[in-house]
Amino acid sequence: MQSPYQPSDIESKWQQQWSDSNLYLTEENRDKPKFYALSMFPYPSGKLHMGHVRNYVITDVIARFKRMQGHRVLHPMGWDAFGLPAENAAIDRGIPPAKWTYENIAQMRSQLQELGLSIDWSREVATCSPDYYKWTQWLFLQFYEAGLAYQKEAAVNWDPIDQTVLANEQVDSEGYSWRSGAKVERKLLRQWFLKITDYAEQLLNDLQQLEGWPDRVKTMQENWIGKSVGAYLEFPIVGSDEKIPVFTTRPDTVYGVTYVVLAPEHPLTEKVTTPERKEAVSAFIQEVSSESEIDRTADDKPKKGTLTGGKAINPFTGEEIPILIANYVLYEYGTGAVMGVPAHDVRDFKFAKENNLPIKVVILPENVEETDFSLVEAYTETGIMVNSGEFNGMESTKGKEAVIKLAENKGFGKKRIQYRLRDWLISRQRYWGCPIPVIHCQDCGTVPVPTEQLPVKLPEQVEFSGRGPSPLAKLDDWVNVTCPKCGKPAKRETDTMDTFIDSSWYFLRYTDATNQNEPFNLDRVNDWMGVDQYVGGIEHAILHLLYSRFFTKVVRDRGLVSVNEPFKRLLTQGMVQGLTYKTKQTGKYLTPEQIIYKNGECRDKETNEPVNIFYEKMSKSKYNGVDPKLVLEKYGADTARMFILFKAPPEKDLEWDDADVEGQYRFLNRVWLLVNEFIENPDSAEDKTINKANLSKEEKDLRRAIHTAIKEISEDLSGDYQFNTAVSELMKLSNALRDAKIKNSPVYREGVETLILLLAPFAPHISEELWHKLGNSESVHLANWLIIDEEALTVDEITLVIQIKGKTRGTISAPASASKDELEAIARASDIAQKYIADKEIKKVIVVPNKLVNFVVV
Ligand SMILES: [Zn+2]
Repeated sequence: MQSPYQPSDIESKWQQQWSDSNLYLTEENRDKPKFYALSMFPYPSGKLHMGHVRNYVITDVIARFKRMQGHRVLHPMGWDAFGLPAENAAIDRGIPPAKWTYENIAQMRSQLQELGLSIDWSREVATCSPDYYKWTQWLFLQFYEAGLAYQKEAAVNWDPIDQTVLANEQVDSEGYSWRSGAKVERKLLRQWFLKITDYAEQLLNDLQQLEGWPDRVKTMQENWIGKSVGAYLEFPIVGSDEKIPVFTTRPDTVYGVTYVVLAPEHPLTEKVTTPERKEAVSAFIQEVSSESEIDRTADDKPKKGTLTGGKAINPFTGEEIPILIANYVLYEYGTGAVMGVPAHDVRDFKFAKENNLPIKVVILPENVEETDFSLVEAYTETGIMVNSGEFNGMESTKGKEAVIKLAENKGFGKKRIQYRLRDWLISRQRYWGCPIPVIHCQDCGTVPVPTEQLPVKLPEQVEFSGRGPSPLAKLDDWVNVTCPKCGKPAKRETDTMDTFIDSSWYFLRYTDATNQNEPFNLDRVNDWMGVDQYVGGIEHAILHLLYSRFFTKVVRDRGLVSVNEPFKRLLTQGMVQGLTYKTKQTGKYLTPEQIIYKNGECRDKETNEPVNIFYEKMSKSKYNGVDPKLVLEKYGADTARMFILFKAPPEKDLEWDDADVEGQYRFLNRVWLLVNEFIENPDSAEDKTINKANLSKEEKDLRRAIHTAIKEISEDLSGDYQFNTAVSELMKLSNALRDAKIKNSPVYREGVETLILLLAPFAPHISEELWHKLGNSESVHLANWLIIDEEALTVDEITLVIQIKGKTRGTISAPASASKDELEAIARASDIAQKYIADKEIKKVIVVPNKLVNFVVV
């Protein structure tokens, strides 16, 4: 009697066995080629969601396939464990952030283990562990030593009621504090930056080396770095020795500058403001200080400004022009000032119209007279320069260089390359992060904490109120230290680092995760880097991936690693979407229990309002999530894995569909049955030794199916990772075996063994169980990947269709090697053809090789 397929028994048994035998410990045998398979590590929220499952299963299939192909594979996992939610839990519920975090990690680790991932857990890292953040601090000091970490003033979100700095996530979209409800203000604080702008050009150029990255990710990074070539120009202030510096990519329009705008926070604002405008200017600054950077620069938000009363001189025309301040100009970006060319810039045009500023046309479309030209909107195209002194009549594209040359000759300015990329603000006024390892001394200034004193540990007895200064700044015992240089009383830095720093080097640590003496050993890191396949969400296309590239380049320049780029290939997996119910008029999300079908139409049970049904990214607030835990309980990990891989190509969005999950469950049941029947068949072949010269047609056909599956699946698992078609191939092979009439042949045994081996990367538990049931004592996951027998792929007979005047009359077999003439001769001699053509005149014969012969008779 056959035992039914029971995933719950099989899966936990093998997970335990794999763990006990250290099956997935990273192999260090350097005779084998290396393969580094990496998933983006999760934030330990405590709960695994389907997006995680998809990400890790994709990486796992690749890791397993590479291992079977004979690679030594590094497939690690860890936790991006610092960050705000832990601190919020401490404020809301009084749970210490460390306790909250480590409990979540334990919970998520066991959920991951239930997926049957082939992870080397001996290399697990948690960024909040002192063993890890000691080296984050050490690396920060490398940046500091290289002159790449510095302090300057920058704006923070300030809650005036709680007297505390807020993270962006703690400010709602309207600009109010999450806790106190106060209108959040902008306040300047001295903060730490990393000089990523020093690497802007390299980060841009080296994108070309990343052949294994999706183009759209590279384009997003390119736009983020935002290189532009233009001019740096200085506008003298009337009645002062000072000048207002601006950057423009359109120096050809400089004769059309009719005003200059400063950021409200610009130090020159106060100097240029006249006594009559003082009150209005202060009121305006106050108003702008409560607006977020996003609101200030958004295209659809109003551009507000006010006159300062001060005037500047356009050095090219000698004209006096007004100086304004406006919300859309940010002090942190560029020079903190812009020149206004309303005739030729969309934003300037709108701003000038709203503020009654003069508009002066200096570029005309070609072949248009100025008298015929009226400006209803900004003219931003190229054209012919007019009203531009010595440049009149020049093409504006040539004018750019010519104007820069004049500026350089006369000392008004110079050519400059500018990047949109700004230095990376890494200071956070929070507790649950990596402490910045510096000490401030009155005499010595900023002093790095000596290496032997690292890590600067986070103190544990901390009070979390969400009010006042950061929790660290309130701890006098922790803050007050002696200066490492002069021994006098000094103070610790109380800012912690942006968590994006923790995740900018974790992939380097995995190569040598337990090293106590250095962040990673040079030989080991160079052996494993770069990552051969990185898998993660598209939401990390810019920040995480750019910061990691930056870190790698700096660490390379410090002689700590030799690669230029951290990630050779990148796969950004699509989202997992759930079936979503949303009312048509009120836009309310409903649970499946809240809807009802009436006359085939979906409605809100309570209000009878019609309901739209569609797929959307799974989310708690939309009631469309599927809990991985429930799926695993019902079907097991193997089915969940198979469904996720089968339902959509990895980079496309995936629509969760219970019927398709069932389908995969049934497929695994069929495989279970098929292998068990083979085992219980007393006449099954003992081994798969095959005498190739003596195969029957049925045996040849089955062998072709077996080796076609090997070929197709091997291809699908290389290059573009077409897991969905690979799963289809598994199903085809399983069907071919089910339908085969030669179940006692060694070829059938070859087919059964091949099916299990091909299934192993996808459904690791059932394949391990069946492999052992077949009598193997070693793990299927240590077995070698399959070798294609090209001979088995060749077709030696084809089915030839016989047609008379285009009408099919029957089929015959013919050798696959037959030429066109031979096919015609075979067809002509066949009984089918003879029946119709015997006494008729053949006008024409059409032969389609490998397919058909058509006799056109009179
Ligand atoms: Zn000192």
